[in-house]
Amino acid sequence: MSLDNLRTLYQQVILEHYKKPKHRGKTDPVDRRQRGHNPSCGDTIDLTVRLNEANDVIEDVKFEGEGCAIAMASADLMADAMRGKTLPEALEMVQQFQNMMKGEAEFPRELRKLNVMQGVAQFPVRIKCATLTWHTLKAALEQTAAVEFVSNEESD
Ligand code: ZN
Repeated sequence: MSLDNLRTLYQQVILEHYKKPKHRGKTDPVDRRQRGHNPSCGDTIDLTVRLNEANDVIEDVKFEGEGCAIAMASADLMADAMRGKTLPEALEMVQQFQNMMKGEAEFPRELRKLNVMQGVAQFPVRIKCATLTWHTLKAALEQTAAVEFVSNEESD
C-alpha cells in the first residue's frame, strides 16, 4: 500500500471514530475510573471500566473528555478492543500499543484495526495524543477503584 493510501485509510478510520464514537459515556457500574491529561495538546480523558464479578475481566470501557480527533478516536478504538479481555491481556495490549507507536510491533489480525494508529507515528507530536487513553487505562487497571489524575508528560 502506498504511503498516500495508508494516510487516507488511517485518517478515515480516525475521523469515523471521532465523529461517531461507539463507547462515549460512563460504564454502569463504575468499577475503575481514571482521568488523564495530555498537556502538549490539551486532550483530557475520563475513562470508566466495568469489570466482571471476580474483577479480572473487562466487561466494558467507556470514555468522556475533550480533545483532538486522534485522542478521541484512539479511546474509542481501545474501548472496542478491550471488551472481554482479562486484566493481564489488557496490560499486555497497552504495552503492545506503545511498541507499535515506536514502530517495533504490530497487532495480530483480530486486532488489526488498532494498527491504523501507526499512521500517527509519522507525526511525533501526535504520538502522545494516541497513547493518552492507553496510559490512562493502564493506570485505571493498576489501581483499586481510586480516582487519580495522570499526566503522560514525563512518561515513555
Ligand atoms: Zn491531541
